[in-house]
Amino acid sequence: MQVERKILLNPGPSTTTDTVKMAQVVPDICPREKEFGQIMADISRELVRIVHGKNEDYAAVLFCGSGTICIDVTLNSLLDKDKKALVVQNGSYSQRACEVLKAYGMPFIELKQPIDEPPSLKEIERVLADNEDIGYVYMTHHETGTGLLNPIREVGALAHEYGAYFITDTTSSYAMIPIDIYKDNIDFCMASAQKGIMGMTGLSYVIGRRDIIEQSKDFPMRSYYCNLYLQYHYFETTGQMHFTPPVQTIYAAKQAIKEYYEEGEEAKWERHLRVMEAIHKGEDDIGLKEALKREVQSGLVSAVRYPDDPNWDFDKIHDYCYERGFTIYPGKIEQKGTFRLCALGAIDSEDIEAFWKVFREAMEHYEVEIPVRYV
Ligand SMILES: *Cc1c(COP(=O)(O)O)cnc(C)c1O
Repeated sequence: MQVERKILLNPGPSTTTDTVKMAQVVPDICPREKEFGQIMADISRELVRIVHGKNEDYAAVLFCGSGTICIDVTLNSLLDKDKKALVVQNGSYSQRACEVLKAYGMPFIELKQPIDEPPSLKEIERVLADNEDIGYVYMTHHETGTGLLNPIREVGALAHEYGAYFITDTTSSYAMIPIDIYKDNIDFCMASAQKGIMGMTGLSYVIGRRDIIEQSKDFPMRSYYCNLYLQYHYFETTGQMHFTPPVQTIYAAKQAIKEYYEEGEEAKWERHLRVMEAIHKGEDDIGLKEALKREVQSGLVSAVRYPDDPNWDFDKIHDYCYERGFTIYPGKIEQKGTFRLCALGAIDSEDIEAFWKVFREAMEHYEVEIPVRYV
Protein backbone atom coordinates (compact mmCIF):
# COMPACT_ATOMS: atom_id res chain seq x y z
CA MET A 1 0.00 0.00 0.00
CA GLN A 2 1.25 3.44 -0.96
CA VAL A 3 0.60 6.34 1.42
CA GLU A 4 1.03 9.87 0.15
CA ARG A 5 3.96 11.55 1.91
CA LYS A 6 3.16 14.79 3.72
CA ILE A 7 5.76 17.11 5.17
CA LEU A 8 4.60 18.26 8.59
CA LEU A 9 6.40 21.36 9.84
CA ASN A 10 4.05 21.66 12.84
CA PRO A 11 5.42 20.78 16.29
CA GLY A 12 4.08 17.23 16.28
CA PRO A 13 2.52 14.91 15.39
CA SER A 14 5.35 14.62 12.93
CA THR A 15 5.95 13.01 9.56
CA THR A 16 6.38 9.26 10.05
CA THR A 17 7.98 6.57 7.95
CA ASP A 18 5.76 4.15 6.01
CA THR A 19 7.17 1.28 8.05
CA VAL A 20 5.92 2.92 11.26
CA LYS A 21 2.51 3.57 9.69
CA MET A 22 2.24 -0.03 8.51
CA ALA A 23 3.35 -1.48 11.85
CA GLN A 24 -0.14 -0.62 13.13
CA VAL A 25 -1.78 -3.11 10.80
CA VAL A 26 -1.65 -6.28 12.87
CA PRO A 27 -4.00 -9.15 13.65
CA ASP A 28 -6.53 -8.25 16.36
CA ILE A 29 -5.22 -9.03 19.81
CA CYS A 30 -6.54 -8.67 23.31
CA PRO A 31 -4.01 -6.43 25.11
CA ARG A 32 -4.31 -8.58 28.23
CA GLU A 33 -2.43 -11.38 26.44
CA LYS A 34 1.11 -12.03 27.70
CA GLU A 35 2.44 -11.49 24.20
CA PHE A 36 1.21 -7.91 24.25
CA GLY A 37 2.41 -7.29 27.82
CA GLN A 38 5.87 -8.32 26.69
CA ILE A 39 5.82 -5.70 23.93
CA MET A 40 4.94 -2.99 26.47
CA ALA A 41 7.64 -4.18 28.86
CA ASP A 42 10.22 -4.06 26.05
CA ILE A 43 9.10 -0.58 25.01
CA SER A 44 9.31 0.69 28.59
CA ARG A 45 12.84 -0.60 28.95
CA GLU A 46 13.91 1.00 25.66
CA LEU A 47 12.31 4.33 26.59
CA VAL A 48 14.50 4.49 29.68
CA ARG A 49 17.55 3.53 27.62
CA ILE A 50 16.96 6.39 25.12
CA VAL A 51 17.85 8.87 27.88
CA HIS A 52 20.68 6.61 29.10
CA GLY A 53 18.90 5.53 32.26
CA LYS A 54 19.38 2.19 33.98
CA ASN A 55 16.27 0.13 34.51
CA GLU A 56 17.01 -0.49 38.15
CA ASP A 57 17.00 3.29 38.76
CA TYR A 58 14.32 4.56 36.39
CA ALA A 59 11.01 3.28 35.07
CA ALA A 60 9.04 4.39 32.04
CA VAL A 61 5.36 4.48 32.96
CA LEU A 62 3.03 4.34 29.96
CA PHE A 63 -0.21 6.25 29.65
CA CYS A 64 -2.90 6.31 27.00
CA GLY A 65 -3.30 9.97 26.11
CA SER A 66 -1.67 12.96 24.46
CA GLY A 67 1.47 14.50 25.95
CA THR A 68 -0.42 16.72 28.36
CA ILE A 69 -1.43 13.66 30.36
CA CYS A 70 2.18 13.41 31.55
CA ILE A 71 2.20 17.06 32.68
CA ASP A 72 -0.96 16.30 34.66
CA VAL A 73 0.33 13.00 36.08
CA THR A 74 3.72 14.24 37.28
CA LEU A 75 2.39 17.47 38.79
CA ASN A 76 -0.51 15.92 40.67
CA SER A 77 1.25 12.72 41.81
CA LEU A 78 4.61 13.93 43.06
CA LEU A 79 3.78 16.59 45.62
CA ASP A 80 3.71 15.48 49.25
CA LYS A 81 1.35 17.12 51.72
CA ASP A 82 2.69 20.37 53.22
CA LYS A 83 4.85 20.88 50.10
CA LYS A 84 4.63 23.48 47.35
CA ALA A 85 5.47 23.22 43.66
CA LEU A 86 7.78 25.67 41.91
CA VAL A 87 7.15 26.22 38.21
CA VAL A 88 9.62 28.12 36.08
CA GLN A 89 7.11 29.80 33.77
CA ASN A 90 8.57 31.03 30.50
CA GLY A 91 6.30 29.77 27.77
CA SER A 92 2.95 28.29 26.92
CA TYR A 93 3.78 24.77 28.13
CA SER A 94 4.96 25.82 31.59
CA GLN A 95 1.89 28.07 31.70
CA ARG A 96 -0.14 24.92 31.05
CA ALA A 97 1.57 23.32 34.06
CA CYS A 98 0.37 26.23 36.21
CA GLU A 99 -3.16 25.73 34.90
CA VAL A 100 -3.02 22.06 35.87
CA LEU A 101 -1.87 22.91 39.41
CA LYS A 102 -4.61 25.52 39.67
CA ALA A 103 -7.22 23.00 38.52
CA TYR A 104 -6.15 20.63 41.30
CA GLY A 105 -6.10 23.47 43.83
CA MET A 106 -2.48 22.63 44.65
CA PRO A 107 -0.11 25.18 46.24
CA PHE A 108 2.52 26.47 43.84
CA ILE A 109 4.87 29.33 43.10
CA GLU A 110 4.82 30.57 39.54
CA LEU A 111 8.20 32.09 38.75
CA LYS A 112 7.59 34.13 35.61
CA GLN A 113 10.57 34.62 33.35
CA PRO A 114 10.97 36.21 29.90
CA ILE A 115 9.82 33.94 27.07
CA ASP A 116 12.68 34.78 24.73
CA GLU A 117 15.78 34.07 26.80
CA PRO A 118 16.89 31.42 29.31
CA PRO A 119 15.62 31.92 32.88
CA SER A 120 17.72 33.49 35.61
CA LEU A 121 19.37 30.79 37.71
CA LYS A 122 19.86 33.37 40.46
CA GLU A 123 16.13 34.02 40.70
CA ILE A 124 15.33 30.33 40.75
CA GLU A 125 17.87 29.84 43.51
CA ARG A 126 16.46 32.78 45.48
CA VAL A 127 12.97 31.26 45.43
CA LEU A 128 14.37 27.90 46.53
CA ALA A 129 16.34 29.54 49.35
CA ASP A 130 13.32 31.54 50.54
CA ASN A 131 10.92 28.59 50.52
CA GLU A 132 11.94 25.49 52.41
CA ASP A 133 8.76 23.67 51.54
CA ILE A 134 9.26 23.25 47.80
CA GLY A 135 8.63 19.63 46.87
CA TYR A 136 9.65 19.82 43.24
CA VAL A 137 10.89 22.24 40.63
CA TYR A 138 9.12 21.97 37.30
CA MET A 139 10.49 23.36 34.03
CA THR A 140 9.86 22.75 30.35
CA HIS A 141 13.04 21.65 28.57
CA HIS A 142 12.10 22.97 25.16
CA GLU A 143 9.30 25.55 25.08
CA THR A 144 7.72 24.48 21.82
CA GLY A 145 5.72 27.69 21.39
CA THR A 146 8.83 29.81 20.91
CA GLY A 147 11.63 27.28 20.38
CA LEU A 148 13.43 28.37 23.56
CA LEU A 149 15.78 25.82 25.12
CA ASN A 150 15.94 25.83 28.91
CA PRO A 151 19.00 24.88 31.02
CA ILE A 152 17.75 21.67 32.63
CA ARG A 153 21.11 20.48 33.92
CA GLU A 154 21.71 23.66 35.91
CA VAL A 155 18.15 23.94 37.21
CA GLY A 156 18.09 20.24 38.12
CA ALA A 157 21.29 20.73 40.12
CA LEU A 158 19.76 23.71 41.95
CA ALA A 159 16.61 21.75 42.79
CA HIS A 160 18.68 18.94 44.25
CA GLU A 161 20.87 21.32 46.21
CA TYR A 162 17.73 22.53 48.00
CA GLY A 163 16.27 19.07 48.51
CA ALA A 164 13.57 19.28 45.82
CA TYR A 165 12.84 16.86 43.00
CA PHE A 166 13.31 18.01 39.44
CA ILE A 167 10.58 17.39 36.89
CA THR A 168 11.09 18.48 33.32
CA ASP A 169 8.75 18.36 30.35
CA THR A 170 10.92 16.92 27.58
CA THR A 171 8.00 16.20 25.25
CA SER A 172 9.49 18.20 22.40
CA SER A 173 13.15 17.31 22.95
CA TYR A 174 13.20 13.63 24.02
CA ALA A 175 14.77 11.34 21.38
CA MET A 176 15.89 14.41 19.46
CA ILE A 177 18.24 16.47 21.65
CA PRO A 178 20.52 13.93 23.35
CA ILE A 179 19.58 13.71 27.04
CA ASP A 180 21.51 11.95 29.81
CA ILE A 181 19.06 11.52 32.66
CA TYR A 182 21.88 11.31 35.25
CA LYS A 183 24.11 14.13 34.04
CA ASP A 184 21.10 16.31 33.33
CA ASN A 185 19.94 15.89 36.95
CA ILE A 186 16.49 14.67 35.92
CA ASP A 187 14.24 12.89 38.40
CA PHE A 188 11.25 12.89 36.03
CA CYS A 189 10.92 13.63 32.37
CA MET A 190 8.20 12.83 29.87
CA ALA A 191 7.38 12.50 26.19
CA SER A 192 4.80 11.40 23.71
CA ALA A 193 5.12 8.86 20.92
CA GLN A 194 4.14 11.26 18.12
CA LYS A 195 7.11 13.55 18.67
CA GLY A 196 10.72 12.46 19.19
CA ILE A 197 10.46 8.77 18.42
CA MET A 198 8.33 9.56 15.34
CA GLY A 199 5.48 7.22 16.24
CA MET A 200 1.72 7.69 16.39
CA THR A 201 -0.47 9.74 18.73
CA GLY A 202 -2.12 8.32 21.84
CA LEU A 203 0.82 6.92 23.82
CA SER A 204 2.70 9.06 26.33
CA TYR A 205 5.22 8.19 29.01
CA VAL A 206 6.74 9.48 32.21
CA ILE A 207 10.29 8.36 32.86
CA GLY A 208 11.17 8.70 36.50
CA ARG A 209 13.11 7.54 39.50
CA ARG A 210 11.73 4.34 40.95
CA ASP A 211 12.58 5.25 44.55
CA ILE A 212 10.61 8.50 44.33
CA ILE A 213 7.67 6.78 42.63
CA GLU A 214 7.66 4.25 45.47
CA GLN A 215 7.69 7.09 48.04
CA SER A 216 4.85 8.85 46.24
CA LYS A 217 2.58 5.98 47.24
CA ASP A 218 2.01 7.90 50.48
CA PHE A 219 1.56 11.32 48.86
CA PRO A 220 -1.98 12.71 48.62
CA MET A 221 -3.87 11.02 45.79
CA ARG A 222 -5.45 13.74 43.68
CA SER A 223 -6.52 11.78 40.62
CA TYR A 224 -7.50 8.22 39.94
CA TYR A 225 -6.90 7.90 36.21
CA CYS A 226 -3.82 10.12 36.23
CA ASN A 227 -1.96 8.79 39.26
CA LEU A 228 1.66 7.85 38.66
CA TYR A 229 2.13 5.35 41.46
CA LEU A 230 -1.07 3.47 40.63
CA GLN A 231 -0.12 3.06 36.98
CA TYR A 232 3.46 2.11 37.89
CA HIS A 233 2.42 -0.39 40.52
CA TYR A 234 -0.16 -2.03 38.27
CA PHE A 235 2.37 -2.52 35.51
CA GLU A 236 5.07 -3.79 37.88
CA THR A 237 2.77 -6.39 39.38
CA THR A 238 0.71 -7.47 36.36
CA GLY A 239 2.75 -6.49 33.30
CA GLN A 240 -0.27 -4.56 32.05
CA MET A 241 -1.40 -0.97 31.84
CA HIS A 242 -4.17 -0.35 34.36
CA PHE A 243 -6.73 0.44 31.66
CA THR A 244 -6.99 -0.29 27.95
CA PRO A 245 -3.75 0.63 26.16
CA PRO A 246 -3.65 2.21 22.68
CA VAL A 247 -2.92 -1.14 21.04
CA GLN A 248 -2.08 -0.14 17.46
CA THR A 249 -0.11 2.91 18.61
CA ILE A 250 2.03 0.60 20.73
CA TYR A 251 2.88 -1.56 17.72
CA ALA A 252 3.88 1.61 15.88
CA ALA A 253 5.99 2.73 18.86
CA LYS A 254 7.82 -0.59 18.85
CA GLN A 255 8.76 -0.10 15.21
CA ALA A 256 9.61 3.59 15.75
CA ILE A 257 12.03 2.73 18.58
CA LYS A 258 13.67 0.12 16.36
CA GLU A 259 14.16 2.78 13.69
CA TYR A 260 15.44 5.24 16.32
CA TYR A 261 18.28 2.89 17.19
CA GLU A 262 18.97 2.10 13.53
CA GLU A 263 19.43 5.80 12.82
CA GLY A 264 21.35 6.40 16.06
CA GLU A 265 21.10 9.15 18.67
CA GLU A 266 23.83 11.34 17.19
CA ALA A 267 22.93 10.88 13.53
CA LYS A 268 19.30 11.65 14.29
CA TRP A 269 20.15 14.83 16.18
CA GLU A 270 22.46 15.88 13.33
CA ARG A 271 19.62 15.34 10.88
CA HIS A 272 17.27 17.54 12.92
CA LEU A 273 19.97 20.23 13.03
CA ARG A 274 20.47 19.91 9.27
CA VAL A 275 16.72 20.39 8.77
CA MET A 276 16.77 23.51 10.99
CA GLU A 277 19.76 24.84 9.09
CA ALA A 278 17.75 24.54 5.87
CA ILE A 279 14.80 26.26 7.57
CA HIS A 280 17.04 29.14 8.70
CA LYS A 281 18.64 29.43 5.27
CA GLY A 282 15.25 29.78 3.59
CA GLU A 283 14.21 32.43 6.11
CA ASP A 284 17.36 34.39 5.43
CA ASP A 285 16.86 34.14 1.65
CA ILE A 286 13.37 35.62 1.91
CA GLY A 287 14.20 38.04 4.71
CA LEU A 288 11.91 36.46 7.31
CA LYS A 289 12.76 37.33 10.92
CA GLU A 290 12.33 35.17 13.99
CA ALA A 291 10.95 35.95 17.43
CA LEU A 292 14.02 34.52 19.21
CA LYS A 293 17.75 34.93 18.71
CA ARG A 294 19.29 31.83 17.21
CA GLU A 295 21.70 31.33 20.13
CA VAL A 296 18.84 30.57 22.51
CA GLN A 297 16.86 28.34 20.14
CA SER A 298 16.54 24.60 20.57
CA GLY A 299 17.32 23.78 16.94
CA LEU A 300 13.88 22.19 16.59
CA VAL A 301 11.40 25.06 16.34
CA SER A 302 11.65 28.39 14.58
CA ALA A 303 9.01 31.00 15.46
CA VAL A 304 8.79 33.33 12.46
CA ARG A 305 7.40 36.85 12.71
CA TYR A 306 4.63 37.79 10.32
CA PRO A 307 5.90 40.22 7.68
CA ASP A 308 4.50 43.76 7.87
CA ASP A 309 2.93 43.53 4.44
CA PRO A 310 -0.75 44.29 3.80
CA ASN A 311 -0.97 41.25 1.54
CA TRP A 312 0.35 38.81 4.16
CA ASP A 313 -2.35 36.42 5.33
CA PHE A 314 -1.13 33.36 7.24
CA ASP A 315 -4.21 31.29 6.48
CA LYS A 316 -3.92 31.85 2.74
CA ILE A 317 -0.22 30.97 2.71
CA HIS A 318 -0.94 27.96 4.90
CA ASP A 319 -3.66 26.71 2.58
CA TYR A 320 -1.50 27.17 -0.51
CA CYS A 321 1.31 25.13 1.08
CA TYR A 322 -1.07 22.57 2.58
CA GLU A 323 -2.63 21.81 -0.79
CA ARG A 324 0.87 21.02 -2.03
CA GLY A 325 1.77 18.68 0.85
CA PHE A 326 3.45 21.03 3.35
CA THR A 327 1.91 21.92 6.71
CA ILE A 328 2.98 25.09 8.53
CA TYR A 329 1.64 26.00 11.95
CA PRO A 330 0.37 29.10 13.77
CA GLY A 331 2.47 30.56 16.55
CA LYS A 332 1.82 30.53 20.25
CA ILE A 333 3.16 33.85 21.42
CA GLU A 334 0.55 36.12 22.95
CA GLN A 335 -0.14 39.36 21.11
CA LYS A 336 2.49 38.67 18.45
CA GLY A 337 1.89 37.41 14.93
CA THR A 338 4.14 34.40 14.45
CA PHE A 339 4.03 31.05 12.72
CA ARG A 340 6.19 28.03 13.35
CA LEU A 341 8.48 25.87 11.26
CA CYS A 342 9.64 22.74 13.05
CA ALA A 343 12.40 20.23 12.44
CA LEU A 344 10.66 17.24 14.03
CA GLY A 345 9.82 14.01 12.22
CA ALA A 346 11.11 11.82 9.42
CA ILE A 347 12.19 14.63 7.11
CA ASP A 348 15.50 15.90 5.79
CA SER A 349 16.97 19.07 4.33
CA GLU A 350 15.77 18.37 0.76
CA ASP A 351 12.18 18.37 2.04
CA ILE A 352 12.79 21.86 3.42
CA GLU A 353 14.31 23.01 0.13
CA ALA A 354 11.18 21.75 -1.65
CA PHE A 355 9.07 23.53 0.96
CA TRP A 356 10.74 26.90 0.42
CA LYS A 357 10.05 26.67 -3.34
CA VAL A 358 6.36 26.25 -2.60
CA PHE A 359 6.39 28.93 0.10
CA ARG A 360 8.01 31.42 -2.29
CA GLU A 361 5.40 30.56 -4.95
CA ALA A 362 2.67 31.20 -2.36
CA MET A 363 4.17 34.58 -1.48
CA GLU A 364 4.34 35.51 -5.17
CA HIS A 365 0.82 34.24 -5.76
CA TYR A 366 -0.56 36.51 -3.03
CA GLU A 367 1.79 39.36 -3.94
CA VAL A 368 3.65 39.51 -0.66
CA GLU A 369 6.85 41.41 -1.32
CA ILE A 370 10.18 39.50 -1.27
CA PRO A 371 12.48 40.23 0.51
CA VAL A 372 9.80 40.66 3.14
CA ARG A 373 9.43 43.94 4.98
CA TYR A 374 9.28 44.76 8.66
CA VAL A 375 8.47 48.24 9.88
C1 LIG B 1 3.54 18.69 22.40
C2 LIG B 1 3.90 19.06 23.76
C3 LIG B 1 3.16 18.60 24.86
C4 LIG B 1 1.93 17.75 24.71
O1 LIG B 1 0.90 18.31 23.99
P1 LIG B 1 -0.36 17.40 23.57
O2 LIG B 1 -1.12 18.29 22.65
O3 LIG B 1 -1.10 17.05 24.80
O4 LIG B 1 0.20 16.17 22.91
C5 LIG B 1 3.61 18.90 26.12
N1 LIG B 1 4.70 19.65 26.30
C6 LIG B 1 5.44 20.13 25.28
C7 LIG B 1 6.65 20.94 25.57
C8 LIG B 1 5.06 19.86 23.97
O5 LIG B 1 5.78 20.32 22.95
